Amino acid sequence: MDCLFCKIVAGEIPSTKVFEDDRVLAFRDIAPMAPTHILVIPKQHIAGVDEITPENSAIVSYIFEVIPKIAKAEGLDGGYRVVSNIGEDGGQTVRHLHFHILGGKKLSNEMA
Ligand code: 5GP
Ligand code: ZN
Repeated sequence: MDCLFCKIVAGEIPSTKVFEDDRVLAFRDIAPMAPTHILVIPKQHIAGVDEITPENSAIVSYIFEVIPKIAKAEGLDGGYRVVSNIGEDGGQTVRHLHFHILGGKKLSNEMA
């Protein structure tokens, strides 16, 4: 499958990993929009939030267990933001489910 993040999972494209286990990979965004900008992805290919189903949704709750652990390890004690862009209008450029962790500064309230 021609999916950038599946290639990162497979190690075909290098990444700066911050967390990995059998189900989840987290790595630093190549073009950070905040001092800390990490992408958390399931290792299984799910195209986006719009492809979450009763059959695959357990990985989403697991990702949300992992996210606060990463945030703590990164020292984001003052808070942070979790974002998932969906589809073209949502600004999704990589069609493999991912959650951005953004932090390390006081983020703007700009949401759209
Ligand atoms: P999206 O725009 O789909 O919500 O987020 C995709 C993110 O992936 C972007 O923030 C972009 O900077 C990041 N990205 C794109 N290609 C690569 C890559 O090869 N390596 C890493 N680490 N991040 C990437
Ligand atoms: Zn993929």
